[in-house]
Amino acid sequence: MRLDKGICLSLIIKRGSDRFPSKKHLIRARACHFQQIRLKEAQFKEPAMLDDSHQSTPESDQSERPWKPAVLRGWQGHCPNCGTGAIFSGYLKVNATCPNCNEALHHHRADDGPAYMTILIVGHVMAPLFLFVFTHYRPTPLVLATIFSVGTVVLSLYLLPRLKGALVALQWAKRMHGFSPEPA
Ligand SMILES: [Zn+2]
Repeated sequence: MRLDKGICLSLIIKRGSDRFPSKKHLIRARACHFQQIRLKEAQFKEPAMLDDSHQSTPESDQSERPWKPAVLRGWQGHCPNCGTGAIFSGYLKVNATCPNCNEALHHHRADDGPAYMTILIVGHVMAPLFLFVFTHYRPTPLVLATIFSVGTVVLSLYLLPRLKGALVALQWAKRMHGFSPEPA
């Protein structure tokens, strides 16, 4: 079925004099309408995607990025590319670009991943420790609650930015999401 703008209009006008447009006619007109919308969206998105790829990876190469040093740099809060610039501008806010080498970092999609990993690790460390301390030392409930509440919060705040840095660095090394010059 050929659906260009002229046919779209003719589909709508052709049956205008009839009492009611047929079902087939309506389906064709609607398909035509949606195709026009998709074409407009594609035209709108194309220049933005091109600009993005130029900004992110000027070298536009697909060479291998070793993930282990990248993850270690991310864990330490450094840019996975140069290892010198800061990956975060705040506690958890990732810099749009590295202040040292200008590598684009805004393509990351860490989302809730670091929070899940933090909960996983903190839970698996603190729960057995809690059980061990309770069965071996039997501290008073107030002491136990205070120590483990503070310990849990401190460990979570320590791990969260490090895990986020490591995850962003892993995404960078594996060229996930917008880190790849080719559209996903
Ligand atoms: Zn850098």
